[in-house]
Amino acid sequence: MDVAILGAGAMGSLFGGLLAEAGHDVTLVDIDDAHLEAIRRDGLRMATDAGERVVTKLHVCRPEAAQRAPELLIVFTKTMHTEAALAAASALIGPHTTVLSLQNGLGNVERLARSVPRERILVGVTTWPADKPAAGRVNSHGSGMIRLMSADGEKRESVLRTVAALNSAGLACSADTDVWITIWEKVAFNAALNSLCAVTQCTVGELSNVPDGPELALKIVAEVAALARTSGVAVDEAHIVDNVRHALANHRSHRPSMLQDVLAGRKTEIEAINGAVVEAARAVPMAVPCTQTLLQLVRLVDASATR
Ligand code: NAD
Repeated sequence: MDVAILGAGAMGSLFGGLLAEAGHDVTLVDIDDAHLEAIRRDGLRMATDAGERVVTKLHVCRPEAAQRAPELLIVFTKTMHTEAALAAASALIGPHTTVLSLQNGLGNVERLARSVPRERILVGVTTWPADKPAAGRVNSHGSGMIRLMSADGEKRESVLRTVAALNSAGLACSADTDVWITIWEKVAFNAALNSLCAVTQCTVGELSNVPDGPELALKIVAEVAALARTSGVAVDEAHIVDNVRHALANHRSHRPSMLQDVLAGRKTEIEAINGAVVEAARAVPMAVPCTQTLLQLVRLVDASATR
């Protein structure tokens, strides 16, 4: 398959590297010149549980230099950069291009739909982890999965072809018309743990140093789960609570991406997570006081970190 990845940071590089290894024709599109130059010069150094190797078959370019519309465009920018990236890389969206978002948070379909007809958008969720320790490198250890569907819920050939391509790269993908449940469950988990860690600068484990941490996290989970159910998405709250408790007990030294962004002085994805929850709650209307307070606190942190 002819694939382009818009936003080739941690996740985009991992997916691009694995797809290229599986024989697909992959172009990484990003604005990080050092990363692009390192890959152009030396290849992508990719470390997974299968070992460390160099992927040399990747094409790289900046968004404005992209000239060819691929069959599949995977958008892997952070959520707040989606629209600018798509605007700069409009040549990547041709009449036969399918566009996939596996980004975290809510509102990804709506952001893509400003540039792409809805019937050509796929949406989903992934639990694969990745980080980019330096230019030209990507690490991913542990396992993960992908669930996706067409944004309009129709059965489409593009869903089958995308699932097959991602599976050929070992990414454990399946089509799932219940994907909104998984998306909302991940939003609830992230709204709780990411925002709390971003504000307190605690690791996930440190949130349990006093009972207030787990108590607040579970209040946020309850708010988001109630909102999801009110919005017609049948999330399993007990399952989210189990995942949160498991993370608190086992991922003790983990710094969620939102905390990593704060520490690096980058803007966080709070608007697509707690922000989107608060907006959806306002439309019902429904009160989500803890989620909203954390949104306001992270906005304050963001404003100082990106000063
Ligand atoms: P990242 O910051 O590592 O990568 C984002 C990339 O987008 C960067 O390389 C950046 O230069 C690029 N970018 C920014 N603006 C751009 C533009 N205008 N045009 C082209 N490229 C642009 O982020 P990530 O960790 O790979 O996360 C990407 C998405 O996947 C996020 O929504 C995140 O929440 C989600 N996600 C991440 C993980 C993870 O483990 N990293 C897991 C699941 C989901």
